[in-house]
Amino acid sequence: MRVLVVGGGGREHALCWALQRDAPDATLFAAPGNPGTAALGTNLPIAATAVADLTAAVVQHDIDVTVIGPEAPLAAGLADRLRGAGRAVFGPSAAAARLESSKAYAKEVMRRAGVPTAASATFAALGPALDYIRTHAEPLVVKASGLAAGKGVVVCATRESAADAARAMLAGNALGDAGKEVVIEEFLEGEELSILALTDGERIVLLPPAQDHKRLGEGDTGPNTGGMGAYCPVSLTTAPLLARVRRDVLEPVLREMATQGAPYEGVLYAGLMLTGDGTPYVLEFNCRFGDPEAQAILPALAPGLTTHLVDIARGGWRPASDIIPPTRAAVTTVLAARGYPEKPERGAAIRLPSPEDLGSDVVVFHAGTSRDPDGTLKTAGGRVLDVTGLGADVPAAARASAAACERIAFEGKTWRRDIAWREIRRAGAA
Ligand code: AMP
Repeated sequence: MRVLVVGGGGREHALCWALQRDAPDATLFAAPGNPGTAALGTNLPIAATAVADLTAAVVQHDIDVTVIGPEAPLAAGLADRLRGAGRAVFGPSAAAARLESSKAYAKEVMRRAGVPTAASATFAALGPALDYIRTHAEPLVVKASGLAAGKGVVVCATRESAADAARAMLAGNALGDAGKEVVIEEFLEGEELSILALTDGERIVLLPPAQDHKRLGEGDTGPNTGGMGAYCPVSLTTAPLLARVRRDVLEPVLREMATQGAPYEGVLYAGLMLTGDGTPYVLEFNCRFGDPEAQAILPALAPGLTTHLVDIARGGWRPASDIIPPTRAAVTTVLAARGYPEKPERGAAIRLPSPEDLGSDVVVFHAGTSRDPDGTLKTAGGRVLDVTGLGADVPAAARASAAACERIAFEGKTWRRDIAWREIRRAGAA
């Protein structure tokens, strides 16, 4: 089997790692990949959004199955193009990926499907947006409808700051086209949780729940980032809660997508807020594995994910159970470059102990790294490495991750020592 993973971050390294663990005889390609995926297969120097070039490469290299990591190529229609060329692909069509690429559309789907979500309204013009803000209670959340690489959501304590955010997006071009339409919604209070499901549009298999850490600083302080860490599983997800998310969120959304002529297949990722009364409200949908959630979830699973991805891509998926339980806990800590997320420094040499040296309870995924011709590994992006610790429980996995992070060195290394703090606090209280 010849498999192509599209993308070049930590998530794609984790996907390649899982594919190789499951199917050691498979031939792996990544586009564009990174030094981590280069160690597992062949990197093709093609950007993840170069839809025509990727389609040509799939034919040229006779790829059996393509797994698309990031949202941008999905929104750009890569899955449609590959399917049109008769190729098996894991990932939704551009029409279905609008669940992520248009928050306004996602809200409309949820409204039609009766999915619990924050009360909201969508605006393309500033005047009506300001009227809405004036007549609604603080705090408010202003969201760019389009893809904004994690920068599109502004939580506003006051109406004044909400008006500023709406003005910046709708009149000030702050986020380009992504902010030409905004969703303004009520602020929800609670604990956030990520539920990822594999689906072929009808069947649903839940992956272990995860929680990510968006803020740069310890104690969830500082600016928002793409994610500074994640862990799995999350003990506050009980079986009844998962059943409720399946019944009240995932199933109705899949039905509505089919009704709209945009059947959904791939990973459906629901970003949830558990409010005081325990209702899971949807904050957002993602149409792919999360990054860095995948780097925690995939190592926590027993081998076997590949069969699901391949069978969904090829059709004829018949999963034996409706949930894939974790076999161990995993905590992923992101090692970022100094200056991340605003202006990450690049080009620092990385000292990375060998896998044998780090031990069997640690897996390191490359995110923003590059390798010089002489073999030197260097920082080449905001998030540099994802360090996943494994253990019987989350506290043990967190210790393994933090110990490994201490041993990896590069100038400007920036990381949070408190990934999974909520779960560790719960474990301590239990
Ligand atoms: P989103 O991309 O929509 O998930 O938003 C990014 C982050 O903004 C979420 O992970 C939450 O921390 C926060 N957020 C989004 N919507 C809301 C809301 N309605 N109430 C409170 N926080 C929110």
